[in-house]
Amino acid sequence: MSDHGIFISEETIEGDGDGPLADKTVAVKDNISTEGVRTTCGSEMLADYVPPYDATVVERLKDAGATIVGKANMDEFGMGSTTETSAFGPVENPAAEGRVPGGSSGGSAAAVAAGEADLALGSDTGGSVRNPAAFCGVVGIKPTYGLVSRYGLVAYANSLEQIGPLAPTVEGAAELLDVIAGEDPQDATTRDEGTDSDYAAAADGDVDGLDIGVPTNLVDGADEGVVEAFWSAMDDLEDRGATYHEVELPSVEHAVEAYYVIATSEASSNLARFDGVRYGHRADAEGNWNEEFAQTRKEGFGEEVKRRVLLGTYALSAGYHDKYYKKAQDARAWVKQDFDEALAEADVLASPTMPVPPFERGESLDDPLQMYLADANTVPVNLADLPAISVPAGETDGLPVGVQFVGSAFDEETIIRAGSALA
Ligand code: GLN
Repeated sequence: MSDHGIFISEETIEGDGDGPLADKTVAVKDNISTEGVRTTCGSEMLADYVPPYDATVVERLKDAGATIVGKANMDEFGMGSTTETSAFGPVENPAAEGRVPGGSSGGSAAAVAAGEADLALGSDTGGSVRNPAAFCGVVGIKPTYGLVSRYGLVAYANSLEQIGPLAPTVEGAAELLDVIAGEDPQDATTRDEGTDSDYAAAADGDVDGLDIGVPTNLVDGADEGVVEAFWSAMDDLEDRGATYHEVELPSVEHAVEAYYVIATSEASSNLARFDGVRYGHRADAEGNWNEEFAQTRKEGFGEEVKRRVLLGTYALSAGYHDKYYKKAQDARAWVKQDFDEALAEADVLASPTMPVPPFERGESLDDPLQMYLADANTVPVNLADLPAISVPAGETDGLPVGVQFVGSAFDEETIIRAGSALA
């Protein structure tokens, strides 16, 4: 294990030739498949799993000439906001001693913040690229659903997640997005968008005339120091020719509840494949099939994963399905509609990425609900399938603060442009 607990494996994977990333090193989150290199998802269940194929994004990195320098540590199966639930130990925040790096792509963000890699890939189901970017003082992009192939990404909640880039600068993250974006016949949810993109060119810092909507209910509840840093970033943008005004997003009050029902329901179904027969760990148990299956999962999964599988199984069970899962889907439709309306009145929406500064280590392990509530500003974007970027925007008491810009579907350029005026 490297410094700060950043990498789970440090095997180098060389790229081919001299493409656009020929001089770049990249850390890849350990839920993204790498042929011949262990891919653990931060779990005991997959501690010895070696994929027989590359994820599409890994193929694209290799074709672009990048050198992959390691598989980055993460919350087990992407479930968390602190990178403390990995079976391989926690990751430290290189930008804030004694604090968590955020999660679940904490290893990816820390790799970039500590200079262990030029760029990194994470995955974002409910904030897992943007949250660690904000906590570690780096840039992270959650692409529009369908812009980046999920082929080879181990699924947590597949209707919500996208692979996304992290980098010290907006331009770096945009360059990496240029390489990984675009339709993939292996992932039928990808769209014919982004294949010939030039997102890096959009990182020109030109926000003259940009109309920014601020959903105040995503600002007012945040920590005082975070709110101050946020408004000071808005003032910077105003000085550069942008304008901002308030917009309404009433549905986001229900987003955390809806997200945790949908995400855990999908997780309970996706993680059923870890049965000790087809993948990973198998308990050395005596007994019938059910007993072996139960023992395998009891040993292979950590506490947080078990909690989510149980929650999701309950939400999907006969008699409760309409009460929880269907209601959550209705809330998701409402969130989408709210964003569409707000984005009809503004070019981008802005809010703090996280309502709080990085948690102290250990703080949220005993209080998962508190941790879930801190996802209030990131999960609505996944429910709405939209693109968002988190960029560093100053500090509160020496701790990094991130500002998030949300754009219309497949309009990555505008959020990149807005972000590049700040970082
Ligand atoms: N914190 C959220 C969760 O635990 C987001 C995780 C993610 O985006 N993978 O589900």
